[in-house]
Amino acid sequence: MSSLFVPARVRSDRQSVVTIDRGALEANWRALAALQPQARTGAAVKADGYGLGAAEVARSLAAAGCRDFFTAWASEGAAVREALASAHEGSHARSGIRIFVLQGLDAPAVPTLLEFGLTPVLSTPEDVAVWREGLREAGTRAPAALQVESGMNRLGLDRRDAEAAAELVTDGSLELSLVMSHLASADELTSQSEAQRRRFLELAALFPDVPRSLANSAGAFRGADYGFDLTRPGIALYGGHAGPASDGRLRPVATLTATVLQVRTANAGEAAGYGAAAPLDRDTRIATIGIGYADGYPRAASGAGVPMRESRPGAMAFVAGRHVPVLGRVSMDLTLIDVTDLPPGAVTPGDSVELFGANVPVDAVAANAGTIAYELLTGLGPRVRRQWN
Ligand SMILES: *Cc1c(COP(=O)(O)O)cnc(C)c1O
Repeated sequence: MSSLFVPARVRSDRQSVVTIDRGALEANWRALAALQPQARTGAAVKADGYGLGAAEVARSLAAAGCRDFFTAWASEGAAVREALASAHEGSHARSGIRIFVLQGLDAPAVPTLLEFGLTPVLSTPEDVAVWREGLREAGTRAPAALQVESGMNRLGLDRRDAEAAAELVTDGSLELSLVMSHLASADELTSQSEAQRRRFLELAALFPDVPRSLANSAGAFRGADYGFDLTRPGIALYGGHAGPASDGRLRPVATLTATVLQVRTANAGEAAGYGAAAPLDRDTRIATIGIGYADGYPRAASGAGVPMRESRPGAMAFVAGRHVPVLGRVSMDLTLIDVTDLPPGAVTPGDSVELFGANVPVDAVAANAGTIAYELLTGLGPRVRRQWN
């Protein structure tokens, strides 16, 4: 995908970069594993590893000991399998690594699932039927996972359909390696998670010998009652906020940087950027940096002049050791920052500016833009070079 924009032979050090700290990613996985020592700790690597690159994420976490990966689609699962197969040079079956496909099951996907040794998560009676028919046609057996609905009203079997699936398990015509459900508000202090946990226990009891999984990142921080046999963290691995209990316990993983292209001084009374949305009330030193909403740095992070969010402050950036505000509207390829409060000459063309990372929490930028870290990370565009450290 990125080769469409950045052929390998075309390099510019000015294009924006997301730097991924492999050590921090692995440390976060180990921290999550330590929270639930009785359970296996998996990893959600859907949406290209939350935008950072699923192949590298999966290779790193497999090296750290992760054996269970969660993708949304069969195509994502196949890519992860290939990345891990080339890392291990073993056959799919021998690697002992399970790759779950949360929502990718239809009849055309079954051959892919079987070829790549992927485990579909069955969430509807139709899923169950398609999977059984696919196995029959292929003349093979393979385990699936089953998702039950515990209160989110998104994907999963309700009680009646779960009972029907349980009968198939009992008579040997459906093989399950996992029964799971998903928490709607594990990162919030509401009673919904506890209600979901109880509902999950009732439904999982229909499948007595099947391992269980309920917790996403925030669920893993809710204590031993939520760990069951396998956790499925995503955002916490990548350094994002996963509920109040996660604060201070995760390392930032992704650092987004862009390069200063020009520094100029504008006079008080002028304005900056599209729509003259940032009127200048003082002589202002402005650095123009090479990143914009086409790279996934959201227009809603603008410091001024985006009507839908006028009540929120704009995002901050970090340059030359200081936090500075984003100025005016973020445009497609460029963003302005106000460096007036830095010493003259502190910022010059070619300097690197952090948009989020160790000094500017990704969750803070997301909040400034009226969104969540998940959306910022998965929205990083193909022009942003992924650099692994
Ligand atoms: C995305 C996802 C996860 C991971 O959630 P985080 O909040 O990122 O930890 C776990 N389980 C399911 C079913 C998901 O869709």
